[in-house]
Amino acid sequence: MKKYTRVSLKLITFGLWRISAGLAERVNLDSINCATESIITRDVAVIGGGSSGTYAAIRLRDIGQSVVVVERNDRLGGHTHTYTDPVTKGKIDIGVEIWQDWDIVRNFFSRFKISLTKNEFAPSAVQYVDYRTGQLVSQYSPGNATDALTAYATQLAKYPYLEFGFDLPNPVPTDLLLPFGDFVEKYALDDTVPTIFKYAQGLGNILHQPTLYVMKNFGLVDLKSIQEGFLTTAKHDNSEIYERALAELGDNALLNTSIVATKRSITGYSSITVTTPCGRREIRAKKILLAIPPKLDNLDGFDLDATEKSLFQQFGNSAYYTGVLRYTGINDNTTVQNIGINTTYHLPVLPGIYSISPSVIPGLLNVKYGSPTALADVQVQSDIIASVQRLPNRTISVESPEFAIFASHTPFELTVSSSAIESGFYKRLYAMQGKRSTYYTGAAFHTQDSSLLWRFTEQLLPLIVEK
Ligand SMILES: Cc1cc2nc3c(=O)[nH]c(=O)nc-3n(C[C@H](O)[C@H](O)[C@H](O)COP(=O)(O)OP(=O)(O)OC[C@H]3O[C@@H](n4cnc5c(N)ncnc54)[C@H](O)[C@@H]3O)c2cc1C
Repeated sequence: MKKYTRVSLKLITFGLWRISAGLAERVNLDSINCATESIITRDVAVIGGGSSGTYAAIRLRDIGQSVVVVERNDRLGGHTHTYTDPVTKGKIDIGVEIWQDWDIVRNFFSRFKISLTKNEFAPSAVQYVDYRTGQLVSQYSPGNATDALTAYATQLAKYPYLEFGFDLPNPVPTDLLLPFGDFVEKYALDDTVPTIFKYAQGLGNILHQPTLYVMKNFGLVDLKSIQEGFLTTAKHDNSEIYERALAELGDNALLNTSIVATKRSITGYSSITVTTPCGRREIRAKKILLAIPPKLDNLDGFDLDATEKSLFQQFGNSAYYTGVLRYTGINDNTTVQNIGINTTYHLPVLPGIYSISPSVIPGLLNVKYGSPTALADVQVQSDIIASVQRLPNRTISVESPEFAIFASHTPFELTVSSSAIESGFYKRLYAMQGKRSTYYTGAAFHTQDSSLLWRFTEQLLPLIVEK
């Protein structure tokens, strides 16, 4: 098969993050996570039990540290979220689906005895529709992106440090500050736009985003993995690793738990007051690892100093929503992708659906929806339903679409303005590592990619442990 054909096939389906089902062996989650100690004393308190926080907690234990994880949801995994169909018991990953084929990823999965396989993007017929009107755009084709992606790769190669974090040079290269739309024009990368838009889902209007964020979300590692294949779990149940991590952490993982107050110390133990389903608890920790989106409204109760406040308040965010729909009337083998009939590069207008695509369970379809800013869940749900009802040639017109599951993954990408980036925002942000016994990981400190975040987190561990 020619390189282009192989690449384009994968690219066409890439942003759809299609999945297949597997029957998962479940750990018993009952009767754990109720810390019996009223004062919990640990080496490290990890705040946020998503991808980065769970990885950090397990690895810190591996190197002899005691930990406690504070997670506000009723599960670990964060943006990794798996729907179980009550009828077939089949699984649909509605969040994180794929990993880079790296040792760090293989090792972490093998630690929990979970098998990985190369991800296959099953081909499906693609219909292009402008969901605003339901108009089918049969003459549209995303074109051949291969040459343009090669040119894009040449640009990416100028900034190898982007694969490791936000350790930007001073001055920050001006191309990274350009709105991505201007960058595309400058380097004639027009043909990459549909592909990048599909891949870098959740970023909102990519043409307005500083090029820095687009490059971090669709970088050289992704281009390489598109060629060589991503990994996914053999059972196609990505939540399993977090369930096993939860079983291992036991009552060191406090679920459904919120921070009430923190009092950080630079020399001794910091104190964190939390409310758990079993009552209020006091955590005493030598170090705190924050693995949550560091927006001010998400840091209620934290004893933030002026520097922390001034940095975190600069973050804006995009919004990303997912779900599984039934009774859509869309053929099980068809992806219905949103495009703009009269927009620049035919990008769909957001807020709006990215695509509705098949799952391995007949009659259930994945939906992905994006917005440049956060919306109420109910608004997103009704827009999705109305958009489906506008579709032409639905096979079942009498039934109304409904959600089998809906999830908001918001706030998603945390961004600051180009002028903030230019004036050293990330230098100041990174300078906070270790200050006030507090360390930071998670997407805001690197990128929306679990493999890259695990690597970033792994490199942070010696710093947390050594001091
Ligand atoms: C739909 C979707 C599909 C994706 N697909 C992929 C993919 O295929 N491959 C990939 O590598 N990446 C994918 N991503 C990107 C994904 O965001 C990252 O891989 C990764 O999950 C980010 O990890 P994180 O630790 O920064 O955040 P999260 O995994 O979201 O973890 C943050 C955790 O902190 C908790 N939390 C937040 N605030 C608080 C608080 N105040 N107190 C206590 N707990 C709190 C949250 O509940 C959450 O559990 C996808 C994202 C989405 C939304």
